[in-house]
Amino acid sequence: LVLEPFQLPAHTRQLRDDVRAFLQHEEQIGTFKPGISGWTTFSRSFSKRLATKGWIGVTWPRRYGGQDLTALDRFVITEELLAAGAPLASHWPVDRQIGPLILQHGSEEQRQLYLPQFASGDLSSALGISEPDAGSDVAAIRTRATKVEGGWLLNGRKIWTSNAHNAQMMVVLCRTEPLDERDRHKGFSHLIVPMPSEGVHLRPIQNLAGKHHFNEILFENVYVPDGRLIGEAGEGWRQLESQLALERAGPERFMSTFPLIGEFIGSIGVGRNDLAAITAGKLVSHLWVMRQMTLSVAGTVSKGASPVLEAALTKELGTRFEQSSVENIREEMGRSIAGGHPSELLRDAILNAPSFTLRGGANEILRGIIARGLGLR
Ligand SMILES: Cc1cc2nc3c(=O)[nH]c(=O)nc-3n(C[C@H](O)[C@H](O)[C@H](O)COP(=O)(O)OP(=O)(O)OC[C@H]3O[C@@H](n4cnc5c(N)ncnc54)[C@H](O)[C@@H]3O)c2cc1C
Repeated sequence: LVLEPFQLPAHTRQLRDDVRAFLQHEEQIGTFKPGISGWTTFSRSFSKRLATKGWIGVTWPRRYGGQDLTALDRFVITEELLAAGAPLASHWPVDRQIGPLILQHGSEEQRQLYLPQFASGDLSSALGISEPDAGSDVAAIRTRATKVEGGWLLNGRKIWTSNAHNAQMMVVLCRTEPLDERDRHKGFSHLIVPMPSEGVHLRPIQNLAGKHHFNEILFENVYVPDGRLIGEAGEGWRQLESQLALERAGPERFMSTFPLIGEFIGSIGVGRNDLAAITAGKLVSHLWVMRQMTLSVAGTVSKGASPVLEAALTKELGTRFEQSSVENIREEMGRSIAGGHPSELLRDAILNAPSFTLRGGANEILRGIIARGLGLR
């Protein structure tokens, strides 16, 4: 286990200031309101405004709409966006993993078609991996595509698909070969399915907060032309592994409640409430440690390594910190606002907190990865 201390290069300071100034202005003019887990809140108009600054797909080559910047520049932009609680879901999956997936494994035609539209904020994509009987155990998925003349026929069912009702396409992980018990990771592929499409049926699912965030999706004989297969048939698992490394390592795994923490600290007042000040101190010290760990993972990734164990550890600790921050603040605010109303941020945080340790891979599974990485299983 290696978590080397890491510092962002000095040149990123200017970028941070620019992003921060942009966000302050946007909040002032009312294009967004800070929210809990803003990266799961969909706003195409906000993403398009961000795109005018060139801050979506920044690491992609310019010829595909990117800025040729480094992963560390992207880290700084991401941190500022998360700290502000801005609504990022319209571009988040394409910026974080679907764009990189197409850049790395897609055809030249796919890169030219999709990446510039992702970078301009015009095209959103959902990601269909989980199924009713295959969440933690992704290799158990049963959605399958069978080869037909010029393409594939897709049949199956996905669940918990975030924002599929808002996106114009979906990247679907499916089996293109039957399950081989000797090698369960063989025979997967990723297909691009435009939304809506004939044979794609979408059922909304309301989450605990009463919001329509995710969906169940049924594919019935959906025809997908060959040109929408990403890479080669059968390469899906390898592609998925590199995607999940990106999905697990980022600052969104400890910053979902950052606006609430800011609101809480701002509400305390100097010397007026010792218990609340102690809680604030605990939260800030935990935040600091999580930030150093996340930075360390980002630094290692930027050197071309793949710190799977470190990323799992960071996500496990980060998401538990997010949950405990809500509990700590609820207790403190409960004391100080007896008879009053909890803030909107606190209410949303309480209702969303159970999902923090599930999305992107449940904590029990991450602990399994950590144990394996430490040679314990
Ligand atoms: C807010 C949110 C958004 C999501 N968005 C998407 C999306 O856009 N696309 C998508 O494809 N999926 C999405 N998901 C699904 C998410 O990836 C799964 O919920 C997650 O992988 C867990 O799978 P599951 O829900 O089937 O739970 P299960 O796998 O059934 O697990 C249930 C519980 O059992 C535990 N468990 C399971 N197996 C083991 C084991 N071997 N050892 C120990 N404990 C175990 C788990 O840790 C968990 O606590 C989203 C989920 C959430 C909460």
